[in-house]
Amino acid sequence: MTRVLHRTIEVQPDLAVSGSGLTLTLGDGRKVLDASGGAAVACLGHGNRRVAEAIGAQAQRLGYVHTGFFTTGPAEALADLLLENEPGGLTHAFFVSSGSEAMESALKLARQYFIERGEPNRTRFIARRQSYHGNTLGALSTGGSHARRVPYEPIMADRFSRVSPCFPFHYRRTGESDGQYVKRLAEELDTEFQRLGPDAVAAFCAETVVGATTGCVAPVPGYFKAVREVCDRYGALLILDEVMCGSGRTGSMHAWEQEGIVPDIQAIGKGLGGGYQPIAGILISGRVIAALASGSGAFVHGHTYQAHPVACAAALEVQRIIREEDLLTNVRNQGVLLERLLRDRFSTHPHVGDIRGRGLFFALEFLENREEKRPFDPALRVHERIKRHGLGAGVGIYPTGGTIDGRAGDHAIIAPPYNSRPQEIETIVDRVEAAVLSMFRELSQSGRRAG
Ligand code: PLP
Repeated sequence: MTRVLHRTIEVQPDLAVSGSGLTLTLGDGRKVLDASGGAAVACLGHGNRRVAEAIGAQAQRLGYVHTGFFTTGPAEALADLLLENEPGGLTHAFFVSSGSEAMESALKLARQYFIERGEPNRTRFIARRQSYHGNTLGALSTGGSHARRVPYEPIMADRFSRVSPCFPFHYRRTGESDGQYVKRLAEELDTEFQRLGPDAVAAFCAETVVGATTGCVAPVPGYFKAVREVCDRYGALLILDEVMCGSGRTGSMHAWEQEGIVPDIQAIGKGLGGGYQPIAGILISGRVIAALASGSGAFVHGHTYQAHPVACAAALEVQRIIREEDLLTNVRNQGVLLERLLRDRFSTHPHVGDIRGRGLFFALEFLENREEKRPFDPALRVHERIKRHGLGAGVGIYPTGGTIDGRAGDHAIIAPPYNSRPQEIETIVDRVEAAVLSMFRELSQSGRRAG
């Protein structure tokens, strides 16, 4: 019997014992290729010696101090490295231990920014449906991940509202051009600002490339420029949540670089420390810092483990490796290969409705009927099946249900490490194909396809 409260009571997960590169070794000796780095986390794969040594060295040198008293070398060096040349005017970093904490920090900093500026009425936040910003109550109140919200709706903050996602595969109208779709979404956002009051909104929050909720959905060209304009029109901040899609995952250090805009506050997480330590953070624009500096001078927020020296040392080493080994070029090159192989194998598959993503961040969306874009009956729990069949085929991919509207739809994310080699990408796709074929064989044998 386990005394750990796992994600479900009745199913105890397999025991993972060790990891090396792409490969995880389980307690019974089985090997699994970790093709999604868990939830797009393990950006250098497993067992990286340099990172492990950096962690050990820092733990021996100095395991912990409280940030109310001291700063540390790894925290300073990590911020210096991330903010070298002040990308997009981002000048400061605040490090925490999870993506949810990063989003909480972003929300609170946005709120405090407007208090410092003498605009205390800005108490509202707008986000998007079909987005995930974390599981703590503030972050959960922000996001539009239906299933995760349901039990907690009655205790959530009421200052958050949501507009449509930018999700062309399902929500672009027939015949609508990119420009028309963007215009429609920008108008909807503008209307929401007006509904709440033109000076009531502190920030608009969005994942630059949507991760787990819809499966690697990149914005339509021009979308974020239009959104930035709406925020600027109403004097609100733009918070981009790049916890999953940032830190190089889509082929640029920041996903927003590919959109031609910059955020005021940006959340980063998974690829920051590659899973070697729990670390996330926010990057903050100079103008937000300036408001704090000329106002109260202190961020009214903090955690015991913020800017933890061992976590910062791990992330610093991960970030150094990404830069020294020019891994973003590899993300772009292997991303091209991954996309080509996925399209070769699945573009005519009757139940793979869409293949989408950027860099080493791709998803397959499964549909009962491709032409009508009709999802499977949610009761079939196709996303859970693909995970199981993946593990059966020796590959870990990251599945989610409710892709389309929080209830219906299924997808799985493939997010291999940034240092993946072509042969590894090919093996991953071979195994994903084996998993997909075996899952649909099982479904057709059970005779319960229709939704
Ligand atoms: N934001 C996004 C976009 C995420 O994908 C996640 C986690 O999946 C989070 C926030 C929350 O991060 P954490 O699980 O580390 O709290």
